[in-house]
Amino acid sequence: MAAGCAYNAGEKPLEIGTGMRALVVEDENAVASFIERGLQEAAFAVDVAGDGDAGLHLATTEYYDVIVLDLLLPQRDGFSVLRALREQGIATPVICLTARDALDDRVRGLNLGADDYLVKPFSFVELLARIRAVMRRGQTLADNPISVGDLTVDVVTRAVERSGQRIDLSAREYALLEYLARHAGEVVSRTMILERIWDMRHDPKTNVIDVHINRLRRKVDAGFDSPLIHTVRGCGYVLKAG
Ligand code: CA
Repeated sequence: MAAGCAYNAGEKPLEIGTGMRALVVEDENAVASFIERGLQEAAFAVDVAGDGDAGLHLATTEYYDVIVLDLLLPQRDGFSVLRALREQGIATPVICLTARDALDDRVRGLNLGADDYLVKPFSFVELLARIRAVMRRGQTLADNPISVGDLTVDVVTRAVERSGQRIDLSAREYALLEYLARHAGEVVSRTMILERIWDMRHDPKTNVIDVHINRLRRKVDAGFDSPLIHTVRGCGYVLKAG
């Protein structure tokens, strides 16, 4: 039986985190795993750092769509992490976690460039709502929708059109296409795609990417004179016009 059918059958409905990477910087294991599990269920690819130094290192060397940052951390506190990120021009949305009644902390965090804060203890639904809000703000980009030739990908509404014709995609197909569109003209490796869209690190044998690239080609390129999805043999894929 084709792997494509199995993947198709198991495909979840569109989740807020599909194709998104989140970093959680939190030293309390129970809180960190609570957030990690919740975000994974919402389809985020999640990294966790247990102290401020590790958090800052990941936040400056990897790409994330959102950072959940506890303020009270060993090594380097959350304020210091936030200040260092903003000083380095890293504008990733940051949601700070603060202790109850720590109003000064919230004000200080927001002044340092936090996008929002949550007071512990909080429900996961609340956290997800904040994440949704800061990501929506971040997505009102000047370059939305993304255009590649006659293809447009609207990252806010997730509407995809080619030559004015609407293209219906599954959640995974959309996430893959948006990722390619955000990197239009650049070769995107299979490893990057696996990490970013499937949160898989070490399964080079999986054919999940081929299956989805083939489906995207049928939907995006079939029937048009010039294909937009190109295979770069031995490297990966690139989305480009001509
Ligand atoms: Ca803490």
